[in-house]
Amino acid sequence: MPIDPSLPYDDANIFAKILRGELPCNKVYEDDHALAFHDIRPQAPVHVLVIPKAAYVSWDDFTAQADDATIAGFMRAVGTVTRQLELAEPGYRLMVNMGQAGHQEVPHLHVHIFGGRQFFQMICD
Ligand code: 5GP
Repeated sequence: MPIDPSLPYDDANIFAKILRGELPCNKVYEDDHALAFHDIRPQAPVHVLVIPKAAYVSWDDFTAQADDATIAGFMRAVGTVTRQLELAEPGYRLMVNMGQAGHQEVPHLHVHIFGGRQFFQMICD
């Protein structure tokens, strides 16, 4: 079910629990701004999620509320993860689902990194 992005941040969401170490993840990268781990239901040969360490419900919340250093640190972390995964050549796809129409299911901002195959259609459904 897609989330309601107007609700306040819910500390009980699954990614908050992963950040607190209450649930395991298959970690690929961590720094002061971000944690990256493999998606539990991968949609591509490489499917990694990058989440900010701070509590933001969505892309909308993050880009409206986070300070510039936090946004820059998170964006740089996404780039670092793609390079660590050696995806820059031949390329990869990034996706952020936002709110109900975007079909966002977890109410903590996450960037999907997809790689390891050729992508064609931009939107499948
Ligand atoms: P959304 O639809 O919100 O953009 O994507 C949520 C993603 O989180 C989905 O791709 C889903 O497979 C992934 N996911 C949900 N629960 C877990 C979990 O407990 N661990 C991991 N690693 N991924 C999860």
